[in-house]
Amino acid sequence: MANKIIVAGGGHGGIAAAAVLAANGFDVTVYEKNKREDMGYDWTDIFAPQALDRIGLPMPPENKFEYKKNMTFYGPSANTPLRQDVPEDDLEIKMERKDIYAMLIANAESNGVHFEYECEVLAPIMSGNRVIGIHTSTGDHFAPMVIDACGVDSPVRRRLPAACGIEKGAGTLGKFIVYRAFFDKVGEIENDPYRVYFFPAGRLGIGWVATEEDTTDMLIGCFDNLSEDDIEDVSQYLRAANPQMGEKVLRGGQIVKIPVRQPLAVMVADGYAAIGDSAFMTVPVIGSGIANALKAARMLADTIIEDEDRVYTCETLWKYQKRYFKALGSSLAPLACVKLLLTKLTSEQLDYLIDNGVLTADDLTIGANSTGLSDFLSMSPASLPDRIKGLVKRPDILKKLLVCGKTLARVMTLTAAMPAYWDRRKVFAWAANYCRCFRAYCAEK
Ligand SMILES: Cc1cc2nc3c(=O)[nH]c(=O)nc-3n(C[C@H](O)[C@H](O)[C@H](O)COP(=O)(O)OP(=O)(O)OC[C@H]3O[C@@H](n4cnc5c(N)ncnc54)[C@H](O)[C@@H]3O)c2cc1C
Repeated sequence: MANKIIVAGGGHGGIAAAAVLAANGFDVTVYEKNKREDMGYDWTDIFAPQALDRIGLPMPPENKFEYKKNMTFYGPSANTPLRQDVPEDDLEIKMERKDIYAMLIANAESNGVHFEYECEVLAPIMSGNRVIGIHTSTGDHFAPMVIDACGVDSPVRRRLPAACGIEKGAGTLGKFIVYRAFFDKVGEIENDPYRVYFFPAGRLGIGWVATEEDTTDMLIGCFDNLSEDDIEDVSQYLRAANPQMGEKVLRGGQIVKIPVRQPLAVMVADGYAAIGDSAFMTVPVIGSGIANALKAARMLADTIIEDEDRVYTCETLWKYQKRYFKALGSSLAPLACVKLLLTKLTSEQLDYLIDNGVLTADDLTIGANSTGLSDFLSMSPASLPDRIKGLVKRPDILKKLLVCGKTLARVMTLTAAMPAYWDRRKVFAWAANYCRCFRAYCAEK
């Protein structure tokens, strides 16, 4: 029984951790609500291949991936396109989501992981404040350790008792509602086949149009609900600038959610650890979460393996959270402030920043190794005079940047001060400060 591990939901990080644990002699079962053939969306994803190495997987076969192409960013007025130029040795790879799953599941099965498909996880089973198993649509299952890989709306995380001190939802401006569809391609375009749009005022959030050989991949996202009318309206708006995008949906075509916020303040409880989207591990500005989930899998598996008493208390599991924040979380949390700043800028202000060289293509050049603020904001001395000149003319924008900067400094100080060891009182006080900091900035006008 001490070697038994439950993975609730077949998230990427959960399956990857399951494989490492099974390879180390643990008896691991993944409980997934979908059928095997329905795992993963019918579309492609971009991620850093270095993450595969962390969980002991080789690069996929060459016919299963291609390197990501540079993207061009358009501000609300679309006056000044910003073209990325990612160095060749820092390129992410693009793969079919179903192939990513095929690779992770085959690896897990070959290491002895059991999968129970068509099994919906309903809630954790508690003994006091300790998680001892899961209630599922096929019955109750028990284990001394439950890994929560159920994604952004995980019913396990949501139904933990308040005494565990774990946030239930993603909170205000914490998740993006996204529609993605691959339309037929009805024409050719000459330049910039991969376009990202910051929509003007009165329209929803952001979007992209990526023109492939035979299809046009469109994604639109915002913080509010997306109605069919919204989708139609934004699709037509994008089609006006992208006449190559047809009207026939060939793939995808569903509404989904992506967490775009700071990592979960407390990721562990006795007998419990959250991973991937359940722990809000995505890069907040862009919503990429696959590589981070895979890297976290290694950290979680190592922490569990090192717990020789096999009791999996907060004391031992806290090491996982510390490892995650040290490697990734403390760089990702400040990016959540940048995302909030983007929600506070008006369309005119964003255009001003782009048109006047304050925000440059270098700032948007996101490579496979980009995990923190310094990777996104290029502070090359050559561009500094233009940035400063642009900003001093706009005290309204400067004021917003200063408030963001103050919050950033506070977040960085806080993540550096995360308790080194689990002490319930200290951890909860730290988590309350961390959450308060983002809540206060969200509420700031
Ligand atoms: C449109 C879109 C595009 C994206 N593009 C990228 C990209 O290009 N690159 C990138 O790195 N990331 C991308 N992401 C984010 C990425 O999908 C996630 O960050 C990543 O998959 C990690 O999430 P996860 O595996 O933990 O959770 P999920 O992908 O949500 O997986 C959760 C799993 O748990 C299962 N599950 C959920 N609830 C239950 C339940 N109650 N019982 C049993 N099983 C359950 C689900 O069926 C699913 O299999 C994108 C997301 C979306 C929505």
